[in-house]
Amino acid sequence: MKPQIEYANNIITGRLIHIGEAQNGKRCNCICSECGKDVLAAQGQINEWHFRHVIETGCFGGLETIIHKLAKQIIFESNEIYSGSKLLSYKNPTKEQKFHTIIPDITFDVEGEKVFVEIEVTNPVDFNKESFYKKGNYKSIKIDLSDVPINISYKDLKRLVLRKAKREMIFWETINLPITNNLSDKKETPKPPLGLIDFFIENPIAALTALFFVAVAFIKLKNKLLYERF
Ligand SMILES: [Zn+2]
Repeated sequence: MKPQIEYANNIITGRLIHIGEAQNGKRCNCICSECGKDVLAAQGQINEWHFRHVIETGCFGGLETIIHKLAKQIIFESNEIYSGSKLLSYKNPTKEQKFHTIIPDITFDVEGEKVFVEIEVTNPVDFNKESFYKKGNYKSIKIDLSDVPINISYKDLKRLVLRKAKREMIFWETINLPITNNLSDKKETPKPPLGLIDFFIENPIAALTALFFVAVAFIKLKNKLLYERF
């Protein structure tokens, strides 16, 4: 039996909604999140409630990608997520907004710094994306939802995405800038070379030695002059 479609895209809000939130029939205003065709909400008394394509196409409603889409929606509509080591409060989340050469699943700001989130459901995070984050020193997290059952409730998925699911930091390093304060800023000014007088003041023994040689030279010169006179 074909799996039931529990979530579809509401064309008015742009959100994925659960069949339980939808209005019955075509009033649900929903399209299939996989193929984009119209669906209706089948909320009968016999079968489990589900969305059904208005025109049957053989599409399964993107059951594998639905977890991925829901996870993005959950992060987009929240403001706190566990990073793997601490709880991050974030602002300005965006979904699939191009950044240089890649399209991160989610981007948000933490204390003025961009943080990227990747969600793994069926496919692991693209190797090129991972190396992009590492090479660029971009703070990034990946969340592993590969074990999540397809019929998980929205509430349980939310708890997994934001807190409990296995996750790891692709890159996370606080670059240690040198601590700048008044003390370390003040560099010791190198001493200018000493003048000859300063040198002798600082070295009395050298001064005395020099004085001795000057005196000897003076006496010799005087004797020489005396000698030459006669
Ligand atoms: Zn479809």
